Parts: sequence; structure tokens; C-alpha cells
Amino acid sequence: MELKNLYREIVNEHNLHPIHKGDLENPSMILNGVNPSCGDDIYLQLQIDENDMVTDGKFNGSGCAISQASADMMLDLIIGKSKDEALKYAENFMGMVRSTASPEEIESLEEAAALEDIAHMPARVKCATLGWKTMQRMLRDGETEGGMSAPCGVCSTDDK
Ligand code: ZN
Repeated sequence: MELKNLYREIVNEHNLHPIHKGDLENPSMILNGVNPSCGDDIYLQLQIDENDMVTDGKFNGSGCAISQASADMMLDLIIGKSKDEALKYAENFMGMVRSTASPEEIESLEEAAALEDIAHMPARVKCATLGWKTMQRMLRDGETEGGMSAPCGVCSTDDK
């Protein structure tokens, strides 16, 4: 299979069968991330323990395939990692979509490296970075909308 097709497959798979879509029972942090240019609207929920480790995470809401797949792949990477490691992944991802990341930085992103071509699709960059930017706002800036389950009427109606 050609590499580009493989990458498209990865994105499709995460969009159709997201591993981390849903709601956490008691998230430590929850934040809404919106990309008005496409209509992507997600609620990112993270469980952070006392050692600043991301022990669990989910996202909910609606959006295009790229925004959903990217959020799912991001959670795949950061669950089980420290806050600092998660933020380093976010930096690498931002570097990748700006074409400034090194091959090693791109490789560190594992499946999320499938979105490398987004760098050549400026209109979709905001879709790809939505989940990552929301995670940065939470872990770097401490933004949260509370620690309860999603305060979002949209989320429950978007469940399959
Ligand atoms: Zn989008």
C-alpha cells in the first residue's frame, strides 16, 4: 500500500472508530475547543493525578474527520504520559503542521504523523490542531471549565 493511502486509512479509522470518544466520569479538567472556520466543536476531558500524569482522557462533541481523528490520536499519545511530555508532543505537532519540525519530532508523534500533509492544506490546519491547542490551554495555561462531566447538551446528542 502506498504510504499516503496508509496515512489516509489511519485518519479514517480514527474518525470512524475513535478509541477515546465519550465522557470521563470524573474528569480533573474539561475544556471546550472550537474551530469556527469549519464548525469543529469538541469537549476535551482529562484525568490528571497528583504527580501531574495524564492518567485518562476522552473527547466529545462534533466536527470533521480531521478534527476528530486528530483529537483521538492525540489522546492515544498523551494518556499515561506526564503533563510536560504531553506538551512536548503538542509542540512537535504544531511544528509538524508548520513544516518546522525535525524528522525525529514528527516520528515521535507515531500515528499522528499521518497528518503531516495537513501542512500543505492551510484551510485544514485549524481542524488538525484543535484538540492539541485545547490540550495546551488545559495543561500549559490551566484552563478548565470545571471538574464535572460535560456541561454540554451537544455532546450527548452526538453519541452514536
Ligand atoms: Zn474541521
